[in-house]
Amino acid sequence: MKFAIINERLVPEPLLHQQEPTYPISNIETIPQPPINKDYSFNHDLQNLLTGKQLPLDELPYSIHEIHQHYENGCLIYRKGITFQKGKAKCERCGNTDQNWFAAYPCSRCGTSCTYCRRCLMMGRVSACTPLCSWSVVNSFSTNNSQLAWTGTLSQGQQTASTRVCESVANDSVLLVWAVCGAGKTEVLFEGIERALQQQKRVCIATPRTDVVLELTPRLQAVFPHIQVASLYGGSEDRHKQSPLTIATIHQLLRFYKAFDTIILDEVDAFPYSVDETLQYAVKNARKDQSSMIYLTATPNPKWRKECRLGKRNFVTIPARFHRHPLPVPEFVWCGRWQKPLKNGKLPQILMKWLHQRLQSQTQALLFIPKIDLIPVILPILHKLHPKIEAVHAEDPQRKEKVQRMRNKEIPILITTTILERGVTFPNLDVAVLGAEDRIFTESALVQIAGRVGRSKQYPTGNITFFHFGRTEAMTSARKQILSMNKEAVEKGLVDV
Ligand SMILES: [Zn+2]
Ligand SMILES: [Zn+2]
Repeated sequence: MKFAIINERLVPEPLLHQQEPTYPISNIETIPQPPINKDYSFNHDLQNLLTGKQLPLDELPYSIHEIHQHYENGCLIYRKGITFQKGKAKCERCGNTDQNWFAAYPCSRCGTSCTYCRRCLMMGRVSACTPLCSWSVVNSFSTNNSQLAWTGTLSQGQQTASTRVCESVANDSVLLVWAVCGAGKTEVLFEGIERALQQQKRVCIATPRTDVVLELTPRLQAVFPHIQVASLYGGSEDRHKQSPLTIATIHQLLRFYKAFDTIILDEVDAFPYSVDETLQYAVKNARKDQSSMIYLTATPNPKWRKECRLGKRNFVTIPARFHRHPLPVPEFVWCGRWQKPLKNGKLPQILMKWLHQRLQSQTQALLFIPKIDLIPVILPILHKLHPKIEAVHAEDPQRKEKVQRMRNKEIPILITTTILERGVTFPNLDVAVLGAEDRIFTESALVQIAGRVGRSKQYPTGNITFFHFGRTEAMTSARKQILSMNKEAVEKGLVDV
């Protein structure tokens, strides 16, 4: 399709010769006027496609005439894909304002050297002449049966948090749920989601990781059997499905615009959300003006923790695990200058002893190491202890398979980079960190790593040891954080001691 720009307005060429040839691209989000042209045929598929979304015009499988009729009747809005302020470009889809992330190409549509955003290019090109299309009224969903089919019970700590989540959903506020690793944070959401759905609100659970989307979807579908749950991640097929409950990677939120009444953001502190402004913009853009926002994390960043302390942030803690046992507290073991003897094929004696004890007692263990290139050095040493010891890292093509074999108890000890710091649960587990002083082991990474131990009801305890060559502030703070959660749990009567 050909376009021209006349007086800052985008003009699809087929419309140039018609009576009202232009359509303005603006940020108007006014209540649509009653239909002007009663003859046009309302397209429900287009409505479904665009509700709560912001899609480039080119992605819509309809003719410009048909699309434009919906604009004229006040149903559809156009926004510019790229806007300019004082000569500086901004991508309206991903919020990018870094000029290095813009480029220009000879565009056949507008016939100029057209600016486009490279930052969100993987989701299709947004250029200066690309309108982003949205539906102007976001319909609420009529869900005939949003009832929760869950018969479990919440722990006392979970119940407190659940009530607060319900409040936040009801009054469109922002809430941080600070729940220790293994607290059972997903169950805490059920009641709030049920409330939201009953009020015809549209809910999204967003998470940085595809694994989590894949894990949560069947779980949520099982507890809300009568509603449709959309599952969105790179390459998923539910892309254009309209659902009252959406589970998505944060990245997928770039397609949404003022869509959700409630967004639940899992693992806010995790990479890449914590450092990627695009994703933070995407979340902001996907919320309705009036909406609730619930953050979930076991390890809020220091800034947020300070805001909590000063009463500047609405938050609730779940300081204890659902099984009412305190969090295992890390032991610090000095292991000297461990990198040097490693070159001669030697690991610190004290670590070897620790690993040997695990093999003897047949307790599975994770050994966290700071760098991927230590694997080929350490693995052969440990193979002398046991031939079935394995190692895993982020780019390992057998990553999933190895985690599964660990679950099947076919691997006694798994060496890992920080990739397994979150999200994995093995029932009877001890954990060691080698080189805990390394910069990669931040306070929150260490809290998460310690959080792998003692998660199951059958095995609620376990050993977590930081082998180090010099204690860092991160190590000390991590231990302090765990101790203070345990203290709070005792004070609130959430653990049996
Ligand atoms: Zn962009
Ligand atoms: Zn162009």
